[in-house]
Amino acid sequence: MLRIFCLTLCLLFPISGVADWLKKEADIMGTRIVVELYHEDPAIAQRGVDAVLSEMHRIDAAMSPFIESSELSLVNREAAQHPVAISEELFELLERANRVSNLTSGAFDITFASVGFLYDYRKGIRPDDRQRAAATSLINYHQLQLDRPQRTVHFGQPGMRIDLGGIAKGYAVDRCMALLAQLGIGNALVRAGGDSRVSGERWGRPWTIGVRDPRDRDGVVAVIPLVDVAISTSGDYERFFEQDGVRYHHIINPRTGDSARELQSTTIIGPDATTTDALSTSVFVLGLHEGMALINRLAGIDAILVDHLGALHYSRDLQPAKKLRTGVKAPSGTVSP
Ligand code: AMP
Ligand code: MG
Repeated sequence: MLRIFCLTLCLLFPISGVADWLKKEADIMGTRIVVELYHEDPAIAQRGVDAVLSEMHRIDAAMSPFIESSELSLVNREAAQHPVAISEELFELLERANRVSNLTSGAFDITFASVGFLYDYRKGIRPDDRQRAAATSLINYHQLQLDRPQRTVHFGQPGMRIDLGGIAKGYAVDRCMALLAQLGIGNALVRAGGDSRVSGERWGRPWTIGVRDPRDRDGVVAVIPLVDVAISTSGDYERFFEQDGVRYHHIINPRTGDSARELQSTTIIGPDATTTDALSTSVFVLGLHEGMALINRLAGIDAILVDHLGALHYSRDLQPAKKLRTGVKAPSGTVSP
């Protein structure tokens, strides 16, 4: 009898008490930050939330192109004139970005910013064809010269710029999850815009993340149960404007200097958020066939792509059984990047 009672209690209150879960949202790094976590000691849980928010602020202060005092802004101001000594952290992230560039044959290229800065999606501003062609000729990650012994970065040509918008949010999420693990917090979700990572479980069940319908703010096209992984979504609906029926959005094909238009969204699942963030942007640029071929070559990485007609495509190891129809509402508790 007692055993049945205990079993019933366990089913009613999986892993933890209601009061001990903490959730906090904030706007940092120009995006929505969400942290949700559990620890049996409420003081430690609170320290976890505080650590996540301050880490997000720290990375924003160092890597934002919009903050003049950031290390990234300093690089953009000076690296064309002379090699600039930078922190180990920034150096490693630039190395990582260059590795992704090599892996994706240049679809991912942080020097896209050489043309990217000419777009203002809020104001509907874009370069004309001549400006775009001139600036696009400056996009080339091979000209991002990293000197490991000196720990410097040097731009091979004047006019070049870099922007970490395609990788820094994922990196920040990974850093935050590492801080939470150090605090002994093993059940958590950290999200920065479209980049999320989860550890452990939520209320005794896997975390679920909804993949947003690119053309319906409140709809999801898939709901995925996740355990100890990262997931990133890139979409053409995040920052865009339309002119003469053409959508200009924030993911730039480095070959053309124009927005990539083969897909509406890319969702990548993998072991860490730095990887999934960079790959979601990369696959968006590569398009359906090249992008999917790349994902199917990479062990431990999965993808859900929405093509320009709104059709869903799954990488080899994902079960289409998880598929929901466009317009289906996410179950409550589902986090939607
Ligand atoms: P995400 O939402 O992760 O796809 O990131 C989009 C951001 O990545 C944009 O706002 C830009 O800052 C940056 N970005 C755009 N195009 C590229 C590209 N081809 N390679 C690397 N980063 C890019
Ligand atoms: Mg990305």
